[in-house]
Amino acid sequence: MKTSVLVVGGGLAGTSAALFLAWRGVDVTLVEKHPGSSPHPRAVGFTARTGELLRAAGIEQDLPESRMSKGFGIRRVRVASLVGERFEETFWSPPAKVSDVEHSPSAGVGVAQDRMEPMLREKARELGADIRMSTRMLEFVQDDDGVTAVVQGDGEPYEIRADYLVAADGHRSPIREALGITRSGRGYMHTSRSVLFRAPLDEYLKDGIGQFVVDGVGFLTTYGDGRWVLMLDDREYDEAELLRQINRAIGRDDLPVEIITTGRWTISASVADRFSQGRVFLAGDAAHTLPPSRGGFGANVGIEDAHNLAWKLAAVLNGESRPSLLDTYDVERRPVALLCHQQIFARNDGHDRDGKKEEGPLYENDAMHFGLLYRSAAVLGAGPELPPAQLPEQWNGQPGTRAPHVWIEPGKSTLDLFQRGWVLVADHPQWEEAAAGLGLRYERVERLDVFGLSEKGASLVRPDGYIAWRSVELPADPAHELKSAFSSTSAGTR
Ligand SMILES: Cc1cc2nc3c(=O)[nH]c(=O)nc-3n(C[C@H](O)[C@H](O)[C@H](O)COP(=O)(O)OP(=O)(O)OC[C@H]3O[C@@H](n4cnc5c(N)ncnc54)[C@H](O)[C@@H]3O)c2cc1C
Repeated sequence: MKTSVLVVGGGLAGTSAALFLAWRGVDVTLVEKHPGSSPHPRAVGFTARTGELLRAAGIEQDLPESRMSKGFGIRRVRVASLVGERFEETFWSPPAKVSDVEHSPSAGVGVAQDRMEPMLREKARELGADIRMSTRMLEFVQDDDGVTAVVQGDGEPYEIRADYLVAADGHRSPIREALGITRSGRGYMHTSRSVLFRAPLDEYLKDGIGQFVVDGVGFLTTYGDGRWVLMLDDREYDEAELLRQINRAIGRDDLPVEIITTGRWTISASVADRFSQGRVFLAGDAAHTLPPSRGGFGANVGIEDAHNLAWKLAAVLNGESRPSLLDTYDVERRPVALLCHQQIFARNDGHDRDGKKEEGPLYENDAMHFGLLYRSAAVLGAGPELPPAQLPEQWNGQPGTRAPHVWIEPGKSTLDLFQRGWVLVADHPQWEEAAAGLGLRYERVERLDVFGLSEKGASLVRPDGYIAWRSVELPADPAHELKSAFSSTSAGTR
């Protein structure tokens, strides 16, 4: 069979890739060797930036009501037990400076991975993605024109021929290994055991605190749906002992506790030394394994990889852009993964178990979520002198950063203008004419100040909502300037 993009791996990164590609009208097939999501979720904390991507794809409204927006899941405290004494609070990132600026129309979401994945999967299917569960990719080869993979479901193995392959096959990534792509970073850190259980403990979730480092026991947190997880040292535990540890962590033993399952996790930190090779692109944990303890970068960063890659693959497949646009995937996303790696070890993990602290600046969560800078051929005017991240109001519409959010009418954000295709933002007839000449969508925006523009300026926004280029004032020949910026940042074929 033939497909434009074959995605291997149906975790959060692969399923998001299938969703974003299908949403952009790309013919995509996903294979996942398991029949469904793991009964033991890992991720629960999804950032508001992930919320923005899901908002554009039309599923934000399906996400459950979340306490994350009120800080749930982000605050963490050391305790004697859940019901016992509370000691100091340990922060993921330096306590944020008070800012009045609202950065996003979306809120962070606390939803367990085994609920998030099926939602993404169903939406991807609804948009036309061919999702094949219980189907394993056995081998693949690539040539100048595409990739041929051998996969196997219930029956005999068969071939799938694709133009491109997205390897979202997890941290061990057999695809990455087959390509001989090496990794850098701290590597293996430790192994943890976990026990997933159900218990009526919601009354102890207060003040937005959802994470507890329990002295002498381990790390306790909740999936926000009645399920809790206790992370323990790596040794064997029988059921009676697990129950004892849970009761110690809770600080009382008179509550009904139902053990659901247990897990064993290898926690490591590494970033692939390249994110693509030929027609194969690594996404999610295959590209970067980032420990979950200080920032929740793992799944969120993987979902953003998928988002960054999807519009580029769509543009190349539909002939709008030359394949060189795909080179910007590695150039833009690998520095983000390396920055996350640096931030994780520059931050305080609350229990100092992971060795030497990384030097360098600490960035606030809002800077890491909404204020990353891309420097690549798909951006003009993002020089090496600029920092890799800062708050959106500090960027003020800098090319290479995500277009800023302001409400343009009740319920409608500037961000809702983007993500379908290229957009020119301005408020001047000459820019409108210049955009029409290139077949670009033109959006008249009154709040040009948040884009760092004069009343006569314009910003060119990419299909992922990042600013490719801007002209703060009206140049002598706007049509010429726009054409040249558009054709270079989009690697345009027009
Ligand atoms: C305890 C814990 C808590 C975490 N909490 C958070 C959090 O709150 N927020 C956050 O952002 N991140 C968190 N993370 C990290 C997050 O879970 C991972 O980064 C994320 O799930 C990785 O998704 P992925 O799709 O890249 O990989 P995976 O989820 O590993 O998916 C890879 C998939 O590929 C499939 N596969 C592999 N090979 C093949 C093949 N040959 N054929 C077919 N299928 C194949 C596998 O079956 C698997 O389903 C946490 C991690 C841990 C361990």
